[in-house]
Amino acid sequence: MKEKLMELVFPPRCAVCGEVLTLQERKGFLCKKCGAHIPFISKDICPHCGGKTDTAGFCDFCLKPFAFETACAAFPYEKVRHAIHLFKYEGGKKLGEGLGALMAEYLLQYHEELLVKTDIILSVPLHPKKEKRRGFNQTHILCQKISEETGLVFRKDGLGRKRDTVAQSTLSTPEERRQNLKDAFETTLDFSGKRVLLVDDIFTTGSTCNECAKELYRADAKEVHILCLSGAGLSLEEK
Ligand SMILES: [Zn+2]
Ligand SMILES: [Zn+2]
Repeated sequence: MKEKLMELVFPPRCAVCGEVLTLQERKGFLCKKCGAHIPFISKDICPHCGGKTDTAGFCDFCLKPFAFETACAAFPYEKVRHAIHLFKYEGGKKLGEGLGALMAEYLLQYHEELLVKTDIILSVPLHPKKEKRRGFNQTHILCQKISEETGLVFRKDGLGRKRDTVAQSTLSTPEERRQNLKDAFETTLDFSGKRVLLVDDIFTTGSTCNECAKELYRADAKEVHILCLSGAGLSLEEK
């Protein structure tokens, strides 16, 4: 009953474009158009700069400043912008599950190597206050679904926030952003020798993922890889 009521308030929407699904489409989580062609970032394009890559992930240039080994993102931001907004701010849990399933599909299609070698999936922790306000950590929903679809182990308690930080986007200098995140995260598990896949929704400056990766390396993780739902706000429309 509750679910039916929820459907009236939040009708099922396509996990990619965010359009309301027709009755026939509601069996799945994609509209007909997105289902016919899932608009993943093309394999030879770096999700961060839009330049050429041969790894289906960040090019060497984009990886350079970061502590993690590799990073990839499933969608160009503008393709999923509407769906991400609905997912985050209207509590569209179903939509989040659809997005998680698509991230799993992206791993299967583009990054079999990550599926083979990952020991544990973690999500970038949200500040507890923010999580409380929102009612959920959206990245947990993505990770949960990725785990269900791929069999990879997800530990939501593996990485936490030690202290308050302000939104990185409100800070203007790199130094302010660095200080804001310094020692903000803590690990709560033994990561020695573990290969970690850290999941986030949107990759913007990468500083949050980077700080989490550094903390994981301090906890003796062997490798840290990043998987994001979408790359930065770059326009990666197919020409
Ligand atoms: Zn769609
Ligand atoms: Zn690049």
